[in-house]
Amino acid sequence: ASGYTLLRDPHHNKGLAFTDKERDAHYLTGLLPPVVFTQELQENRLMHNLRQFTVPLQRYMAMMDLQERNERLFYKLLIDNVEELLPIVYTPTVGEACQKYGSIFRRPQGLYISLKEKGRILEVLKNWPEKNIQVIVVTDGERILGLGDLGCQGMGIPVGKLSLYTALGGVRPSVCLPITIDVGTNNKKLLDDEFYIGLRQNRATGEEYAELLEEFMSAVKQNYGEKILVQFEDFANHNAFELLAKYRTTHLVFNDDIQGTASVVLAGLIAALKVVGGTLADHTFLFLGAGEAGTGIAELIALEISKKTDAPIEETRKQVWLVDSKGLVVTSRKESLQHFKQPWAHEHEPVKELIDAFQAIKPTVLIGTSGVGRTFTKEVIEAMASFNEKPIILALSNPTSQSECTAEEAYTWSEGRAIFCSGSPFESVEYDGKILVPGQANNAYIFPGFGLGLIMSGTVRVHDDLLLAASEALAAQVTEEYYAKGLIYPPFSNIRKISANIAANVAAKSYELGLASRLPRPKDLVKHAESCMYTPVYRSYR
Ligand code: NAP
Ligand code: MN
Repeated sequence: ASGYTLLRDPHHNKGLAFTDKERDAHYLTGLLPPVVFTQELQENRLMHNLRQFTVPLQRYMAMMDLQERNERLFYKLLIDNVEELLPIVYTPTVGEACQKYGSIFRRPQGLYISLKEKGRILEVLKNWPEKNIQVIVVTDGERILGLGDLGCQGMGIPVGKLSLYTALGGVRPSVCLPITIDVGTNNKKLLDDEFYIGLRQNRATGEEYAELLEEFMSAVKQNYGEKILVQFEDFANHNAFELLAKYRTTHLVFNDDIQGTASVVLAGLIAALKVVGGTLADHTFLFLGAGEAGTGIAELIALEISKKTDAPIEETRKQVWLVDSKGLVVTSRKESLQHFKQPWAHEHEPVKELIDAFQAIKPTVLIGTSGVGRTFTKEVIEAMASFNEKPIILALSNPTSQSECTAEEAYTWSEGRAIFCSGSPFESVEYDGKILVPGQANNAYIFPGFGLGLIMSGTVRVHDDLLLAASEALAAQVTEEYYAKGLIYPPFSNIRKISANIAANVAAKSYELGLASRLPRPKDLVKHAESCMYTPVYRSYR
């Protein structure tokens, strides 16, 4: 290939870091100014430029440009500055990017499969330049973060998630494929937007939807084999539960909104127990919100208790109560309840309001997954603090404005006694001379390491026990030093090490269950995980 082509190939381009020898050998002489930079100097230069932008979306666009120009440098920036750049390439900025995707769109970064491609999805998959794909993140754009239906412009989500697979989990970028399935959108604003990039029609539903997804799932398996990991992302809850139930026995599928959330929250709870004392089985859980996040977390809690106590899961579920928009989920409502809520309909008289449900159940752990802000009122939190020495309060709804309460409220109303964590980040709070640091239950703790664990062991199906293994590995990364500060999650700066540990524990469980196909099993799985991880250091071309 010519030097000119090399400079325009993001997988190989090193920009000013090509050495004189490389420039000679690859017909690059004269195509670059004389100076030779190290990768570190390039990194410093780009971080400096990035910080000049005050608008987060500009930083996002600069990062996307870098990804398309020099992939290794992009990942080096992301890995070395993870705490600073995570909010740019992922939530919250990626949400704004999706909303404006039509305007900022430059080059496609993933594969678009729309209703127009029905009947030839396999053909479309073959158009993607990389043949050896190991993980797909797919969305249909119906529930992008907390922003609702963004149709085809949801593409920012699979792109962002997969860049985290690489940066945080060390999965090679060439094996990652972002996909958006476009079945239309019900977002009127987008349908009227002249720059909208998707199909200009309302969402297909029912048979038509199911058929497209079925064709997609079988084409994926046909093209990439049994071990292709398909992560469903930001589907609306009716489809999310159905797709997971339908494909979990035939494909390697994982839904981050349901299962990833459950795993990261369970990890926080296991870690919190070290501060609060006792075991999960000693606790009573009350959720506000019974959707993907709420029921997903509830199920994993019940499963963990069941494993630890040998009680059947039908029994352990009774320690977990959920409130939805119509009140406490109870037996008398059973006929009208959606399928995924039915296991949580316990014997109880109807209760409408959270505060009343709260008084009836007297939970030791309160979890908000409703998407509705300010619902953990002073009354609720004071009550929680009145019968719990260390009340565990998780306000998981995103974005910040939708959080069930703020960190400051949780600490103040509980006289500084709450173990608090949230979905969106909050600043530390000073209470009574003490600095209290709220945790953030970010799914990015789990899914990259979880995915790496599946891939490196050649796992063929996701089993709930693998999610428990991921939770336990993450909780184990929280050391004494962090507990002392009230932290129930480790800092993100160690994420690659955390991911390697999660991957190893997930793989170990997979081998134990006979789900891993890559044999023989490596002896030291942590070392093996680390050795599998992609590093963004430049290769030399001789
Ligand atoms: P979802 O599937 O739409 O579920 C929302 C649930 O909340 C539904 O059960 C709904 O009731 C209930 N609800 C809505 N308004 C309510 C109200 N006023 N009072 C009581 N319940 C109410 O959404 P999801 O995917 O579970 O996400 C929920 C929230 O969790 C979002 O804000 C999301 O950002 C957050 N989340 C956080 C994390 C994290 O922290 N890592 C991960 C995932 C999601 P009905 O069923 O009756 O409609
Ligand atoms: Mn999601």
